[in-house]
Amino acid sequence: MTYDLCIIGGGAAGLMASIFAAQTGAKVVIIEKNTTVGRKLLKTGRGRCNITHTGTIDDFVREYDFCGRFLKHCLYEFPPEAVRQFFAQKGLATKVEKDGCVFPLTDRAADVSRVLVDAARRNGVQFIYGRTVETIDKHFSGGFILKAGADQYECAALILATGGASWPQTGSAGDGYNFALALGHSIVEPKSALAPLITVETWPAELQGVGVPDVRVSVTVGDKKIQAAGPLMFTADGIGGPVIFDISRAVTDYLHAHPEPLPIKLDLYPSKDFQQLETFFLDGCAAHPKQEIARVITDLLPRAVTLYIARQIQTDGRPIMAGQLSKDARRKLIGLIKEMPLTIQAVHPLAEATITRGGVCQDEIEPTTMQSRLCPGLFFAGELIDVDGPCGGYNLQIAWATGALAGKSAAKHCKPA
Ligand SMILES: Cc1cc2nc3c(=O)[nH]c(=O)nc-3n(C[C@H](O)[C@H](O)[C@H](O)COP(=O)(O)OP(=O)(O)OC[C@H]3O[C@@H](n4cnc5c(N)ncnc54)[C@H](O)[C@@H]3O)c2cc1C
Repeated sequence: MTYDLCIIGGGAAGLMASIFAAQTGAKVVIIEKNTTVGRKLLKTGRGRCNITHTGTIDDFVREYDFCGRFLKHCLYEFPPEAVRQFFAQKGLATKVEKDGCVFPLTDRAADVSRVLVDAARRNGVQFIYGRTVETIDKHFSGGFILKAGADQYECAALILATGGASWPQTGSAGDGYNFALALGHSIVEPKSALAPLITVETWPAELQGVGVPDVRVSVTVGDKKIQAAGPLMFTADGIGGPVIFDISRAVTDYLHAHPEPLPIKLDLYPSKDFQQLETFFLDGCAAHPKQEIARVITDLLPRAVTLYIARQIQTDGRPIMAGQLSKDARRKLIGLIKEMPLTIQAVHPLAEATITRGGVCQDEIEPTTMQSRLCPGLFFAGELIDVDGPCGGYNLQIAWATGALAGKSAAKHCKPA
């Protein structure tokens, strides 16, 4: 079969690319290895799909950090506000939550996927399901020949939208890296990001499943001091939750280059400084001298956490009463709340990470078109590229914006005006 444009991968980026390409009249096909498209999309935002975030393009560029400059052009072409309008025009209104995260009004990722598939079908996009593209060859005419089992597809332009290598059970198993390598590109080594961190200390396992709603995390990565705030969750082998996922982007790079463990500090109660906590303790202990110290601080933190912290100042294994709390012990307790030390030894494996950090080298892609600088007619979209963002809708925004730009540019390439 011959097409103007083949898109490998029917995830968020591939679907969006297909719509923008087909709107120009190009004959577009999506080849998807699964029997349905958007399998990862359905998992996003715990099934609610955090579509994007509020903020200006400058805010997004800042959040994207090392890849902000590369993404700037596609963000101007398809900014977060335009993404919301895109869905609204197709009947799916969105809402903004307190933290700026944007979700569909229906709170259903399935609706996001359905809207995309309907829009693609209405614009004439064809879908080939259950076919895993295995090889890509350059055609002497300048186009591409794709092989999937016994099937062969020819196209003038090709978009690789095969995703990263995290959550491979959804279909994104890293196939795109091999395609890109075969077509002359280099790959920045894929690593886990937005993933829980594994600590040297084993005590977090005692608190597994316990969440602390507001924690400030500080870590020095190389010569950069990183701070982030948000909810934290203790896990079987360390710490997770949104605040940890966000710093995992920098930690993963560091641990990759420096195998020695990385110290990290948790401020478990950032809304009061040391002095204010001391006053709180003094007042609490004076008011309830016969209570166990863990009970006096029970309003500050989840009970399991206060019990763990209170145990750290026991000397003979017996609970300390508030009236017996020495100045040193009080300060040690407050120190543990304000600067709980932990040591990070690893990030959870890539297969379990929310996103892949690394991928097709940015420098080899033209940011104003998403076209390969090495192989004319080849375009890239989505998580396959060496770009990533923090939690909060920033990664789907990458998929939408790179997908829309790759789709428009690829259609122009195969059907020049
Ligand atoms: C649990 C979870 C929750 C998330 N929640 C959010 C969220 O709420 N907000 C947010 O912004 N981001 C979220 N993300 C990240 C976001 O889902 C991804 O960044 C985004 O889906 C990437 O889109 P993509 O199209 O590039 O790749 P994918 O969605 O992975 O799509 C790639 C597609 O290519 C297909 N494919 C791969 N190889 C081949 C081949 N050889 N032949 C044919 N088809 C192939 C795959 O089957 C797949 O369907 C979440 C990720 C996970 C894992």
